[in-house]
Amino acid sequence: MSAVRMDGKALAEKLRAVVAEDVRAFGGPVCLATILVGDDPASHVYVGKKHEASHEAGIESRDHRFPSDTPETDILDLIAELNADESVDGILVQLPLPEHMNEPSVTRAVDPDKDVDGFHPINAGRLFLGEPLLVPATPLGVMAMLAEYGIEPKGAEAVVIGRSEIVGKPMSMLLLAEHATVTICHSRTADLGAHARRADILVAAVGRPGLVTPDMVKPGATVIDVGVNRTDKGLVGDVDPAVFEVAGHMTPVPGGVGPMTIAMLLRNTLTAAQHRSELRGTGVAAPGR
Ligand code: NAD
Repeated sequence: MSAVRMDGKALAEKLRAVVAEDVRAFGGPVCLATILVGDDPASHVYVGKKHEASHEAGIESRDHRFPSDTPETDILDLIAELNADESVDGILVQLPLPEHMNEPSVTRAVDPDKDVDGFHPINAGRLFLGEPLLVPATPLGVMAMLAEYGIEPKGAEAVVIGRSEIVGKPMSMLLLAEHATVTICHSRTADLGAHARRADILVAAVGRPGLVTPDMVKPGATVIDVGVNRTDKGLVGDVDPAVFEVAGHMTPVPGGVGPMTIAMLLRNTLTAAQHRSELRGTGVAAPGR
């Protein structure tokens, strides 16, 4: 038996069209500002895609790019400007930042109400308290895929491999909020296979090709591969493709979780615009718009 292939590309297209409709219904302009420092080619491609997707969804975007030797204070000044700019709803700082910058101090400078990546401690705290507002896009995309394919987290054993602030931790919180019994595994976990084999829903977010092998997967389980690894064989995930023969549902790489991340970033930008509009009162338009 071969697993149902969870098509993130098709679902992302559908969700992006829904965001575009919701942007029209919102009735006012929605604007995303991105900040990219350095010359990492992958980051330039990702940011380019984010602008393209924003444009298609009717979201305005502003593209701020800087050379890698830019002082951190210049970036903090720009963030302060964008925080104060009423016409900007979402601010995204593309990671990684160059070595001389302190990532947490830069990402934490973003106004939590404009933090479309959901990295600010206020947004992490909201998620932890069960009152999410802006949630990191990748785990949010995973939840949308589970819903689309009728995978019910309630009562399920969910095992998340990886405990980063960007994927593993928020993923675990989202699954917990949907009443899964969640185990978080990481680099120091003893006997990863024993934990993984219990999972009805197994999420791999590590960055190690082929980490999850067929013997680590319960037959019929849902396997979500968040990993993106560039190898000489091209882009591969953290899950050995042979797992398709054991799992009930599984995401491919590429074409699984990856495309969902951008769709969820657009959703978050609209959520930020709606939230800011509510904070201002009932009107949609910001002063001076
Ligand atoms: P990270 O490096 O911050 O975290 C990796 C985690 O894996 C750590 O918590 C670590 O404890 C754990 N780990 C490392 N080795 C392990 C092992 N042998 N066994 C169990 N756990 C182990 O990475 P991240 O930012 O969370 O990203 C994880 C992967 O997801 C990467 O491949 C990244 O490229 C990918 N990613 C994809 C998307 C997307 O849109 N598809 C978005 C973000 C990240």
